[in-house]
Amino acid sequence: MADSSTAADLSSDQVMSRLTVAQQAELLYGAGPWHVRPPAGADLAPLMMTDGPNGARGMSFNTGLSACFPCETALAATWDPELVTEVGRAIGAEARRTGASMLLAPAVNLHRVPVGGRNFECFSEDPELTAVMTAAYVTGVQEQGVACCVKHLVGNDQETNRHSVSAEIDDATLREVYLRPFEAAVRAGAWAIMAAYNRLNGIYATESPWLLSTLLRDEWGWDGVVVSDWYATRTTAAALNAGLDLEMPGPSQLRGEKLLKAIGDGEVGEEAVERSARRVLRLLARTQPTEAVREVTSHDALIRNAGARGIVLLRNEHDILPISDQVRTIALIGPGADIGQVQGGGSCQVQPPQVRDLLTALRDRFGGEVRFARGTVDPDHPRMFERQTLHEPGALIEYRLRSDPGAAPLATETGTSLSLAWLTPVLEGYDAADLAIRIRAGFTPTETGSHQLTLAAIGSSTMRVNGSEVLAQEGRGGADVIFDLSKVRKRAAVELTAGVAAELVIDYLPLPGADFHRLQVGLIPPAPPDLLDRACELAAASDLAVVMIEHPPGVETEGHDRTGLSLPIHHNELVSRVCAANPRTVVVVNTGSPVAMPWAGSAAAIVQLWYPGQELGDSLADVLTGAVNPSGKLPVTFPARAEDTPAWPYFPGTAEVVRYGERLAIGYRGMTAEPLFPFGFGLSYSAFRLGDASVGRTATGWTVTVPVTNTSDRAGREVVQLYARLTPDRPFRELKAFGSAEIGPGQTVPVQLTVSTDSLRTWSAGGWAAPSGPVEAAIGTSSADLPITVLLEP
Ligand code: BGC
Repeated sequence: MADSSTAADLSSDQVMSRLTVAQQAELLYGAGPWHVRPPAGADLAPLMMTDGPNGARGMSFNTGLSACFPCETALAATWDPELVTEVGRAIGAEARRTGASMLLAPAVNLHRVPVGGRNFECFSEDPELTAVMTAAYVTGVQEQGVACCVKHLVGNDQETNRHSVSAEIDDATLREVYLRPFEAAVRAGAWAIMAAYNRLNGIYATESPWLLSTLLRDEWGWDGVVVSDWYATRTTAAALNAGLDLEMPGPSQLRGEKLLKAIGDGEVGEEAVERSARRVLRLLARTQPTEAVREVTSHDALIRNAGARGIVLLRNEHDILPISDQVRTIALIGPGADIGQVQGGGSCQVQPPQVRDLLTALRDRFGGEVRFARGTVDPDHPRMFERQTLHEPGALIEYRLRSDPGAAPLATETGTSLSLAWLTPVLEGYDAADLAIRIRAGFTPTETGSHQLTLAAIGSSTMRVNGSEVLAQEGRGGADVIFDLSKVRKRAAVELTAGVAAELVIDYLPLPGADFHRLQVGLIPPAPPDLLDRACELAAASDLAVVMIEHPPGVETEGHDRTGLSLPIHHNELVSRVCAANPRTVVVVNTGSPVAMPWAGSAAAIVQLWYPGQELGDSLADVLTGAVNPSGKLPVTFPARAEDTPAWPYFPGTAEVVRYGERLAIGYRGMTAEPLFPFGFGLSYSAFRLGDASVGRTATGWTVTVPVTNTSDRAGREVVQLYARLTPDRPFRELKAFGSAEIGPGQTVPVQLTVSTDSLRTWSAGGWAAPSGPVEAAIGTSSADLPITVLLEP
């Protein structure tokens, strides 16, 4: 880090010395939706940005394919920072492949409530686990010379009212809990941080001098770039003076001419411009493409392995898993079990080149003995037309002038799906008001019957199927609609025949003046009344039933939080009925965050899959068959009821204020009711026994060694966790260290946990305090199973 920083400083100093104030000011805003232009004449490539965190989409929402990795929660469930660094390296390489030099990731906000719409994009409810994973991810990505823009600083732990709400967080809670991952990112050398939409204690994060200057610069000594979340800059002078270096996206709304005027009027000092320009130049210098970047052609094996390693086995009665050799027939059941949800929704979405579904993966292993039944159809959540369901080459998009729709297109491109999005400008050089967009695509249904086609767009749109207009729709814009197009969705019933191709033509007039333009076409398959009965019959006639339930597209997404823990309509009935039809039923939960499981006691096995990325089918089949012995542990409490979550009484607050009244007692720390599954919990096909722990003092803290014996005849991995009670007045223990090991059958392996003195600090009376005496720590394999106690003596 030191060397590259010095080189970056030298080259940016040279460029800086030649720039006028006006040229410096041009570095402080995006030249387009995803890039910053270097100064004219400087021998520097532009700073190109792409969203993460579960891949690197590239600079277009509509074209281009990128590998889809497990979501951050799934990565945290591995409790394996080395694996996360490897994933970071691969995502960094993906970013480079798309031409990006900065990845807008990782998201390091906390799962304060289990219904947070973006929880799946964040690691955990625990600050320590999040901090370790953050550092691991940043290290991997930045090894590729790609900057991480760590987001969203800070208190953006809910989607409800994210543009207006003030997160009211006391100092100790802010420092110990919500800032902890950002501090870890800074220590790991992150080159950029994104300032959040919301306010912190009354002041917008994008214009808080305390946050952006006093803390990041003066206290933490950080020299990276603060980037605004997209359209989160609210002022010209206050934001820049506070330390917001870069306004994104471009074209600029609050800098450009406005900034030059503010400089002229003395509202912004030249030194503030110079200071931020120097940081942006340093970032440009740091992220210039080099030859040293690792070339990777395929990430499939890594994604498959990481996806499998994140899976958490929650229940396994009578060792029903792994699937035994005696099983000849398998019923695979579920509304989306033939596809699976590989990722959550929002700005993080990528279009993967392939998706391995569970049906195919199981059939590859079991031949024709795997049969599929949908069981239920979700009437509220259409499936989107993704690359896998569209005819080659995809969606043909033509841009024309509204005033001359008969003329040849101004531009054309091939979209990879029918979930399309554009930031302004929709087409470089044209106003949205002047554009008409036609999209053509084909698909071949796999079922016969009355399908529902859905159309939703910001602006107005019509859809023809095989030449006949079936839908016309008019959609407003607004922050609440951008990530929830269901508010403007229309649907029409269309008779389709399995195997007979259908042609779709959509005409779209984007909404003039909107920042963000979106259009989505979806499909709800036929729902004959006997679907559930057929699934139960299939389950009863099979040796094993696997029911896969999910949050369909649009439930877990940026833009809104869930309303509760319940699964979508009919899912619970489906699981209960199938479990009754065949007691040998494995339930796979394909969600990014906890759901209620009223049927938990009757399922033989429960597997938490998360959003595991594009190799979903193989990651899951590897665990179901025992090719991978599950070792994932929950990075978030699965409460029995949402109300049991400590933050629940305060969530979501009003449009103005959300008070973090639970203070330090986030998640498992403050949970008094028995959870459905505790934080840190996860089963294995092996069995382990922990021996006596020994404690050694080091210069920076303690090393705690725990011998772990694998008492089974199957190799497996165990994660050992240490929770400390920091002060006598705190009624809870907090995760402070963890470690894991692969252990062969009958073997004993010492697992080392490193506890740093720093991690035991507490914030009181305006400063950090070291523990005043010995700290009691408890060790075990979940937050609810801590049989070993040690004392950490100062
Ligand atoms: C999200 C960010 C994202 C940005 C750019 C915003 O809506 O909050 O996480 O990086 O858009 O897509």
